[in-house]
Amino acid sequence: MKDPKKLGINTICTHVGEIEDKQFKGAVSPVYMATSYAFDNVDVKRYPRYFNTPNQEGMCRKIAALEKTEDALVFSSGMAAISAALFAFLQKGDHVILQQVIYGGTYNFVAKEFEKYGIEYSYTESNSVNDFEALIQSNTKIIYIETPSNPLLGITDMKAISDLAKAKGIITMIDNTFASPINQNPVAYGIDIMIHSGTKYMGGHSDISAGAVAGSKEHIAKIWETAINYGGNLSDFMVWMLERSMKTLNLRVKEQTKNAQVVAEYLEESPHIDRVYYPGLTSHPDHELAKIQMKGFGAMMAFELTEGIDAMEFQNALELIKPSMSLAGLESTTVSPAQTTHALLTEEERLERGIKQGLIRFSTGIEEPEDLIADIEQAIQKTKKELV
Ligand SMILES: *Cc1c(COP(=O)(O)O)cnc(C)c1O
Repeated sequence: MKDPKKLGINTICTHVGEIEDKQFKGAVSPVYMATSYAFDNVDVKRYPRYFNTPNQEGMCRKIAALEKTEDALVFSSGMAAISAALFAFLQKGDHVILQQVIYGGTYNFVAKEFEKYGIEYSYTESNSVNDFEALIQSNTKIIYIETPSNPLLGITDMKAISDLAKAKGIITMIDNTFASPINQNPVAYGIDIMIHSGTKYMGGHSDISAGAVAGSKEHIAKIWETAINYGGNLSDFMVWMLERSMKTLNLRVKEQTKNAQVVAEYLEESPHIDRVYYPGLTSHPDHELAKIQMKGFGAMMAFELTEGIDAMEFQNALELIKPSMSLAGLESTTVSPAQTTHALLTEEERLERGIKQGLIRFSTGIEEPEDLIADIEQAIQKTKKELV
């Protein structure tokens, strides 16, 4: 077969990594649930926690083809992927530079686990490459970024970061969850290791917990050595479910991205919305950079309700769009960070991070954008208070 990375995107989603059903000629991959395989006269000694069952291997080929890398691994959650990837390259006394705003779970992992093992870390004060450069120490091993970032859709210059890191022999990692491999392939900009919460776009139907890493054969082999000790492998049935979901990954994400642009443009015009954060809007401070390094602007955005519209009341008034902690499903969802993900911070700490009371993070689904806009409009009309 042709190099899988060179196939069309829908062909990769549909076919790469599939297992031929030689026995019954079924059209889809059989699922091999065995946890025990022969050790004699076999090419590979297979075991689920070795990440090498037939279904796991097939899924890894698909993810590698989508991220245009040599290899990949599939995990039971995004955090299983993130923790294995980070710890694979770190030991006592090492230093990590992390982007200012990263996923809350990763932030918590760093705060709770790094110190225990004597790993040093620094957060940048912005997404600017100068900030990263200023923090480099002789023991810096990893630069960790997330672009677009959660919840304000900040953009980090991947090429500038990887150039900086390569010159100093530092490994670069990106949480590529928000863009998905459909809208962004960081390896093209020199980033070493791509990480995904498969619970989001890869799964896409709000019913699978999974994670993935993608990179060179050498880097993935190193992550594998750590991953088998932590045991965050994905069960074969869930791998099979994920394969089913990923067949439509491009179709879903393309449609969601298209809808997001329409909704973002509507929100930007609305007198009830103070600000919209979406890389596809020319008003986004890093729109030009996003245009260079992203294939599409993605389906995540955030917006600020104007004073007089309460974030919780607004979300409760939505009829179609679901208030929901997670994101990236077929169905549109909202979350208000000040009242949920960032509720434990003081109002001052939130404002430092740009999170106002009326901030709504919006995950655009596949519903027709006119229906989404009508729902947002009616919820605004229902909850807005006349300011006197
Ligand atoms: C959800 C998420 C994660 C964590 O993934 P889990 O599957 O919940 O472990 C990491 N990064 C980002 C950007 C996410 O949205």
